[in-house]
Amino acid sequence: MIARVVRAVVVALSVVVASHVAAPARADDRVIIPDACSVTRPYDAASPLTELTSGIETTWGFRLTGRYWTDERYRPIVATVWRTLDAISCTPYLGALHAKVGTLELFATSIGGWAAGDYGLTRADAVSLDFPQLLTSYPTDPGHVSRLFVHELTHAYTRDRSANPPYWSDFTALYARNGRFGSYGSSSSEVFSEVVGYYVARCAANNPYTPAESAYYDFAKTEVFGGKEFGPAPGQPVACDATIPDTRAAYASANAAVEAAVADREAAAQEIALNGAARYGYESLSVSGPGTAI
Ligand SMILES: [Zn+2]
Repeated sequence: MIARVVRAVVVALSVVVASHVAAPARADDRVIIPDACSVTRPYDAASPLTELTSGIETTWGFRLTGRYWTDERYRPIVATVWRTLDAISCTPYLGALHAKVGTLELFATSIGGWAAGDYGLTRADAVSLDFPQLLTSYPTDPGHVSRLFVHELTHAYTRDRSANPPYWSDFTALYARNGRFGSYGSSSSEVFSEVVGYYVARCAANNPYTPAESAYYDFAKTEVFGGKEFGPAPGQPVACDATIPDTRAAYASANAAVEAAVADREAAAQEIALNGAARYGYESLSVSGPGTAI
């Protein structure tokens, strides 16, 4: 945690410095996942995507398929996957996952519709991730990308639930008492994925971990992550809160500019209409928020 906070401060300072030399700040230099583990494999923004993807495969036991992994437009998504895996690498999570499913395929694709990811639906035995949709969410809610990734991995993690292993037995008893978690998921499997996804991605927008959800929090902490935490107890300020608002402010101003442009165009359209110049059309601009459906 401390290391990443320090890094965030360094990044924030370097952004200030960079602004004086007119170098653009990299969109992927943000704190998205508060640390559970010391960073053992720092994400290197200078690494080619081919090296990053092969590094994900060999370091953390996945098989990456789909052309988006090596498409520079999707570097923030690759970086988020890298950092998420690094952050959970000292917990029992990945070992337990691989014991259940072996080398897991991560398929970077465009799913279409409302789903940003799935396990086993788009492609059998693979976690499919809708990279274009995730990239759309990234600017306003980068934590969503991490949460979605862990959510889908966790569907693979619970693949053994029909055998009712101890973790699942404990969880279903908890689910029977506590029910839904957040605004999504009305089955034990979906709620489990959300409980685990938000436990890792503490910086995700609208994270449901308030003190009222401490039973789910304690479950994830003790039965899934071996006591490691990605932030303070529910209800306490999360480290990313100090760094994310800066970027949110930046996007807020961008959104404000878009909204101003929309207002200008609408005003211009009204003026044109009043002048009877109906032949002048204008394109509509839409401002959409981050997707949440998974
Ligand atoms: Zn799901």
